[in-house]
Amino acid sequence: MATKPSFLSPDYLETLLTQIQIWFGVFALDTMRYFIAAGLVSLVLYQLLGAWSAQRRIQSRIARPQDIRREIFYSLLTTAVYATVALFTIEALDRGILHKYDDVADYGWTYTVLSLGLLLILHDCYFYWAHRLMHLPQLFAFTHRIHHLSRTPTPWAAYSFAPPEALLMALFMPMAIFLLPLHGMVIFIFLGIMIIRNAMGHSGIEFHPQSWVDGPLDSMTSVTHHDLHHQKFNGNYGLYFTWWDRWMKTELKDYKPAFRAAAGANKNQNPQQHQLS
Ligand SMILES: [Zn+2]
Ligand SMILES: [Zn+2]
Repeated sequence: MATKPSFLSPDYLETLLTQIQIWFGVFALDTMRYFIAAGLVSLVLYQLLGAWSAQRRIQSRIARPQDIRREIFYSLLTTAVYATVALFTIEALDRGILHKYDDVADYGWTYTVLSLGLLLILHDCYFYWAHRLMHLPQLFAFTHRIHHLSRTPTPWAAYSFAPPEALLMALFMPMAIFLLPLHGMVIFIFLGIMIIRNAMGHSGIEFHPQSWVDGPLDSMTSVTHHDLHHQKFNGNYGLYFTWWDRWMKTELKDYKPAFRAAAGANKNQNPQQHQLS
């Protein structure tokens, strides 16, 4: 007669312990990445370059301490969701359902370097459409409302998501690994770029040069681009690039004037233009 599997068997307990260790390992790594990125951006823009940054503040409104506490609380909840999704991703990699490679020679340097750019383009597309989805009235309160409590975001808002939004954001990585062969180092660099870009995009300081929106760099977003999204909600949904907002005609009309005002070009003409009511 077959015996029932025991949840207290040594094998089961050992597997459970390993899973818990992996979860805490990923949680610690993601949390560390968050604190390093948000801490560094805050240190550089608010402390080391404080006087310079004051001239480039996008909003005159200042985030309150309770806003920052809320942003950190939800960001930690997000890294917990990321660690949970990572647990399933690692399991799928172990079982051969998902594949990543560790020897550059498998696909060559050209592909390995290009795959990072491809990953950023894919992520930008995923983010734009997931973001628009979350702005649907039926889904907004459940998914994205917490992130928009930050009317004047700070770098600590980088991961300030309700768990359903965190889950939607976390699903990108396994989907990307499913679609593209990716080297472990490419994934590591991508995750670093993502969190740094996120922390900078929520800093409220327009540190990009004034010429940013007048040349080819205009295809990339700026801090003002995302800051305006936090102020006005209904436009500027993109993450790294301005392409999707332009193709879908969702770029806010006053993006460039607001950018120029924050970056210093028109400071005396309309300094309060983008203040929240
Ligand atoms: Zn945001
Ligand atoms: Zn939004």
